[in-house]
Amino acid sequence: MAGQGSLSNLRNIGIMAHIDAGKTTTTERILYYTGRSHKIGEVHDGTAVMDWMEQEQERGITITSAATTCFWKDHQINIIDTPGHVDFTVEVERCLRVLDGVIAVFCAVGGVEPQSETVWRQADRYQIPRIAFVNKMDRIGADFDKCVEEIAERLGARPVAVTLPVGSEDTFSGIIDLITMRMLRFDEATQGLRITEEAIPDDLQSKSSAARMTLLEKLADFDEGVMEKYLEDQEVTPEEIYRALRKATLSLDLVPVLCGSAFKNKGVQPLLDAVIRYLPSPLDIPPVEGEDKGGNIVTRKASRSEKFCGLVFKLQTDAYVGNLAFIRVYSGELKLGDKVFNPLKRKKEKISKLLKLHANKREEVGSIGAGDIGAVVGLKFTTTGDTLCASGDWIVLETMDFPEPVIGVA
Ligand code: GDP
Repeated sequence: MAGQGSLSNLRNIGIMAHIDAGKTTTTERILYYTGRSHKIGEVHDGTAVMDWMEQEQERGITITSAATTCFWKDHQINIIDTPGHVDFTVEVERCLRVLDGVIAVFCAVGGVEPQSETVWRQADRYQIPRIAFVNKMDRIGADFDKCVEEIAERLGARPVAVTLPVGSEDTFSGIIDLITMRMLRFDEATQGLRITEEAIPDDLQSKSSAARMTLLEKLADFDEGVMEKYLEDQEVTPEEIYRALRKATLSLDLVPVLCGSAFKNKGVQPLLDAVIRYLPSPLDIPPVEGEDKGGNIVTRKASRSEKFCGLVFKLQTDAYVGNLAFIRVYSGELKLGDKVFNPLKRKKEKISKLLKLHANKREEVGSIGAGDIGAVVGLKFTTTGDTLCASGDWIVLETMDFPEPVIGVA
């Protein structure tokens, strides 16, 4: 399967938003596009696209799993469902622990609202790199620039627009990619499923050039290569920008901001490209820390050659297969038939079925490797927050020292 096996091509992400900003719709569109491209490849034939759309509309894609796996351009993306709570509950904290990157969705009309601030602080606490998606660009009153400003002012972040909207409200018809300096026009006939690349129209040339300059200026602060070229008025290539922006996103120095309308299928593919371009793979995050039997801190790297350990972050009942324990494997490999140890319960568990959950199917797998997320069926003693580790080993990843709830403050 595309992307499997290579850790650098894996993304564990969460989608976080103020209620009503469009988190559910964005997630559904992502699952829809990725399902479509993974199953039938890039379809350029309009009829095939429409057939697929009708099928999908009938079936209705909804995110129902604690973690849903999808594929985009040779990358595997695990989308972890973050609970909608606005405060720092154990459940929210636990989900934040297992994801490596976040798409923060904002409403282009409402901008940064109090609840978005809380969500942002939650991601700050775990130092999670983020990209921002300014959604609902089709709505009356949508204001991309204002939203980008608010991300800076209210959230204290350094946002950097990587796209600009073409048109607004009813006439929102495309985006300008400030990195390649091309216009991506959404095709109305396929409801935005098809995107054509075009030259930037004359009336948007100067605004786009100015916005690209701002992007380069911000990048130059964090990247010497870009700085030199910028100062010497040399062309900075898209590849150089992607590389520098990835670095600045991972170090939490910059937040790439894109715009679109999930509802109208506009801008979701560029958002997926940004996920794989800028958000971290498990190799980009520090080794996980836990406590050994004596209470000493031990670390485990995201490598299949390490001893197995993983954190069970959610239990869920599935109508078809029964009780699922969602697990992030941090190191080693969890294999079918393994006997693993749960140190908190001091019990052994047998791994008799492993699943990956997709938008509309469950896939039985033989193993889940370091960095990846999946579900174990039929555990007897394990509850959420428990660590599973190799038999004969002892590591506890989650110790229950959660801070007092902090609501909406820096
Ligand atoms: P959530 O609470 O963040 O999960 O938000 P939802 O995805 O449920 O969206 C809230 C409402 O906004 C729903 O009625 C959606 O249909 C609508 N919505 C979501 N995205 C867009 C968009 O891009 N444009 C418009 N006009 N409506 C949207």
